[in-house]
Amino acid sequence: MSDKFIPYGRQTIGEDDIAAVAEVLRSDWLTTGPKVEEFEKAFAAKVGMPHAVAISNGTTALHAAYAALGVGPGDEVIVPPMTFAATANAVVYCGAKPVFADVDPDTLLLDPARVASLVSSKTKGIAAVDYAGQPCDYKALKKIATAHKLFLLDDACHALGGSLDGAPVGSLADLSTFSFHPVKPITTGEGGMIVTHDADLAARMKTFRNHGITADFRTREKLGSWFYEIDALGYNFRICDMQCALGLSQLKKLDAFTARRREIAKLYDRRIPAIPGLKPLNVRPGVGHAYHLYVVRLDLEQMKVGRAEVFKLLRDAGIGVNVHYVPVHLHPFYRRTFGTQEGLCPVAEAAYQRILSLPVFPGMTDSDAERVVETVGNCMASLRKG
Ligand SMILES: *Cc1c(COP(=O)(O)O)cnc(C)c1O
Repeated sequence: MSDKFIPYGRQTIGEDDIAAVAEVLRSDWLTTGPKVEEFEKAFAAKVGMPHAVAISNGTTALHAAYAALGVGPGDEVIVPPMTFAATANAVVYCGAKPVFADVDPDTLLLDPARVASLVSSKTKGIAAVDYAGQPCDYKALKKIATAHKLFLLDDACHALGGSLDGAPVGSLADLSTFSFHPVKPITTGEGGMIVTHDADLAARMKTFRNHGITADFRTREKLGSWFYEIDALGYNFRICDMQCALGLSQLKKLDAFTARRREIAKLYDRRIPAIPGLKPLNVRPGVGHAYHLYVVRLDLEQMKVGRAEVFKLLRDAGIGVNVHYVPVHLHPFYRRTFGTQEGLCPVAEAAYQRILSLPVFPGMTDSDAERVVETVGNCMASLRKG
């Protein structure tokens, strides 16, 4: 079907995934049972980290991580503006202030020089975002973090399956957080994960996701005890066994999913630069890209119209392009609460005017990708000046 709508991303669910969830439905445990720990262990092994904490979504993963790191009132966390708002929102949940450091114009990744210039006595840490699935410059970011005794967190929600200089995403920072929303590299419907080297941080995050209760109910069952204690205030951010069974099944297919995303990106890499007025983002050396997004920049100077018209024309032609993201500091909440405004991050603001995400997901066929390229090419040709 050549006229069907191609979304920018979507889940890939097989009969094996469905069977894995059905098995849990027939078992004794629906919420926190054996699948949670099984998923944590398998995920930790996959990214080469000792500790993993499964949680209700990618946003609560960030919230739990910041809370465990001690982020609180009076603290600042340096974040990029070119991200989903949750990276910054979770800083605000902790009563702290997100400080926006601009991005590199060629990759839209956090610019280490900007980060260094914003470190103050209030800075508690850096939250880097592997935008589109490309890992940031962790060598440079680590240097800054070490010099100023800051934490370095990788919001890796885009980048599961990626790598940097051969090291898997998940192992590149002190902590890394993941989302299993359906458009992300693997899905559990809703779900998230944090991985870390630090056993204490992992223990604190496990407590945080379960009301602050220090022993889980299975431990209490073993002890034959009704007793539990709330040491620090927590939340109900649990993920359930049905979701973790799906996650385990999806994780087995991560390598194949990543490989397929890379094939589609390769096809785009061959064809997109030949379309006048379009430029893909740069990929840095040593990067194993996870291609959650394939982002192109429009050369607006060559065009009769703005990005909004290109977006509408492509959507009308069945190509589910999207825009990632409205720079976070320009949202009314941030303007009102933190006084942020235009001019704070000029690179991200300029990029925002001209970026488009093209469809990329494992279930796309080569002919889907060809159709994207052809439709985008025709659209650009019709909107070019003179
Ligand atoms: C998706 C995403 C999140 C939030 O994940 P949810 O599971 O939707 O809560 C956070 N940060 C980034 C960069 C994301 O892409």
